[in-house]
Amino acid sequence: MPARRRGRDPALTTRAWERDKAWWRNQGLPCQICGIPLDYRKPRGWHLGHIVGRHQARRMGWTEEQIAARSNQRPECVRCSTRAGARYGNRVRGAVARGVVWSSSRW
Ligand SMILES: [Zn+2]
Repeated sequence: MPARRRGRDPALTTRAWERDKAWWRNQGLPCQICGIPLDYRKPRGWHLGHIVGRHQARRMGWTEEQIAARSNQRPECVRCSTRAGARYGNRVRGAVARGVVWSSSRW
C-alpha cells in the first residue's frame, strides 16, 4: 500500500478516524466530560469528539492533521457530546436566531 499523506482524501480520513475510534475503544475510558462509564460495545454508546471543534480549530488556523490528532480527541457520552456542541453553538445562537443556517459537524 503506498503511503500517501493526503489529508483531503475522505477515505483515508475515515480510515484514520475508525482506527482512532478503535484505539479509544481499547482504552475503555469513561466520558471525559462527566465521567460516566461508556458502553463501548454499542456503536452509539459513546462518541469520539474533538476537544477543539473542527470549525473552531480551522478558524484558529489549525491544520487538518492537528485537528485530527489524537491529542485533540476525547471519548464522550452521547449526552455530553450533544451538550458540548450546544455550548459552542451558543456563540452562533444569534446567527441561528436570525435564520442563518448553521451547518457544522458536531465533531
Ligand atoms: Zn458525559
